Amino acid sequence: MTYQRDTLCVQAGYTPGNGEPRQIPIIQSTTFKYATSEEMGKLFDLEASGYFYTRLQNPTNDYVAAKIAALEGGTAAMLTSSGQAASFFSIFNICSQGDHVVASSDLYGGTYNLFAVTMKRMGIHFTFVNPHCSDDELNAAFTPQTKAVFGETIANPALVVLDIERFAKAAHAHGVPLIIDNTFATPVNCRPIEWGADINIHSTTKYMDGHGAGVGGCIVDSGKFDWMQHADKFPGLCTPDDSYHGIIYAEKFGKEGAFITKCIAQLMRDFGSIQSPQNAFLLNLGLESLHVRMKRHCENGQTIAEYLRDHEKIAWVKFSGLPQDQDYALAQKYLPNGGCGVVSFGVKGGRKAAETFMKNLKLAAIETHVADARTCCLHPANATHRQMNDEELAAAGITPDLIRFSCGLEDARDLIADIEQALQFV
Ligand SMILES: *Cc1c(COP(=O)(O)O)cnc(C)c1O
Repeated sequence: MTYQRDTLCVQAGYTPGNGEPRQIPIIQSTTFKYATSEEMGKLFDLEASGYFYTRLQNPTNDYVAAKIAALEGGTAAMLTSSGQAASFFSIFNICSQGDHVVASSDLYGGTYNLFAVTMKRMGIHFTFVNPHCSDDELNAAFTPQTKAVFGETIANPALVVLDIERFAKAAHAHGVPLIIDNTFATPVNCRPIEWGADINIHSTTKYMDGHGAGVGGCIVDSGKFDWMQHADKFPGLCTPDDSYHGIIYAEKFGKEGAFITKCIAQLMRDFGSIQSPQNAFLLNLGLESLHVRMKRHCENGQTIAEYLRDHEKIAWVKFSGLPQDQDYALAQKYLPNGGCGVVSFGVKGGRKAAETFMKNLKLAAIETHVADARTCCLHPANATHRQMNDEELAAAGITPDLIRFSCGLEDARDLIADIEQALQFV
């Protein structure tokens, strides 16, 4: 039986047996007991599935990962300690020194830094393309070393909507997977796999958790990309792994399981970016109400965007739910029920006015956070993106006056009153 998305939010991933706990158990244990070394040896050799050490896998985390896989329509998933770890693993699982990735230029600041600075030091190179570039420009970004394409469904904080189908076609024409960061839309509003994405990642820290309680990440595999068909590009998946007695992931675990199994067996083993079972439990509480909360976040976002659009002190508003928005048509296609509750805008008077406005807000708090039950806001040029110069900011779709306003679950009338009183100081 297959269930609707809202039902999956509440129930997928964990089905208790007779007399078992109704809520998912927190398996707060680093390790798991076995009667014989032979049995444990089979787990180490990936010959049997089971638990032996929480750095690799933990049942609580697996229940929650299974729920997210069901929501995204994927075949396998894993939790990570943060969204950053998920982004890094999703690329590093199929790229090594000398490889290349095509990425949208409108990215979360932390992702941009990871790609442009830190992974460059590992010899993995990125070409950043404007998400609205022409097909010719997009195709020209590929090299013989390209191993993946990466973009965000709704970019944080530029709020540009990615044409997922177009990027998937370009990726597949070059024999590589499309990796989508679906953090802002969540699977409630968009399932990138349905539009051709091969791998999804999330910062679960945002709407999925939704209450600012735990940092976390997730990687989901669609199970659709045929690694063996492009075996020359992906030796890590298609040639023997000496650290597991020469198993070939794509052969042994198939399209459905190879990517996540390798990512756990190699990257989680070696880097150890595991999510704590306690945080996974909190994440699941958030997921249980994700569909209800997203609706309200989007309604508040729409109300605030319309209010700001008509305000004389506001220079510009970016929200793909506004008919005059550059991405309105894309949003109608990919986000018919709304995108997210985040609105970006500029106050007339630029950088200085942005600061004056923000420090006079009473209900909306200044936070390095977004997509939370409580309304919060941020001035990226002064915070998350402050390592960028104005040119890099512009390339990332961020102006020096941009305020990222994340509408929470409060009554929109109170949010409007708060903005109204703060604007009087500008
Ligand atoms: C926050 C965020 C990340 C990074 O996630 P962390 O959980 O903070 O490590 C990645 N992508 C997007 C779109 C984000 O908003």
